[in-house]
Amino acid sequence: MHGEGQCRSNETTATEKAIGSAPERWRPKANAMKQKTQCPKCENREIFHAETVMDRGYMDSPSPMALGTQKTRVGWFWKAVPWGQLEAFTCRQCGYTEFYVKDVQELPTQ
Ligand SMILES: [Zn+2]
Repeated sequence: MHGEGQCRSNETTATEKAIGSAPERWRPKANAMKQKTQCPKCENREIFHAETVMDRGYMDSPSPMALGTQKTRVGWFWKAVPWGQLEAFTCRQCGYTEFYVKDVQELPTQ
């Protein structure tokens, strides 16, 4: 009886630790445009946010810019599903642009 109780309390402590450290690890650098919403080149505060960056894919069709694609079966077809899709932050004054991968946690391990 006593042993079981101890085991359960240890598990709780481990979970709390994992939750506590996660936001610290994924926090972007303080000088990122994403974080500051200010241009690091000219200090202008008007930043344009593009949720998707367009590129040209097969037959010149517009497709979102990404680091790569993975062939995934969708019903009867194989589809190239992009991973590491990019978003951009552009300064409205000087045009300086920073790119970020949207789901950085979901990048494949190398
Ligand atoms: Zn600027």
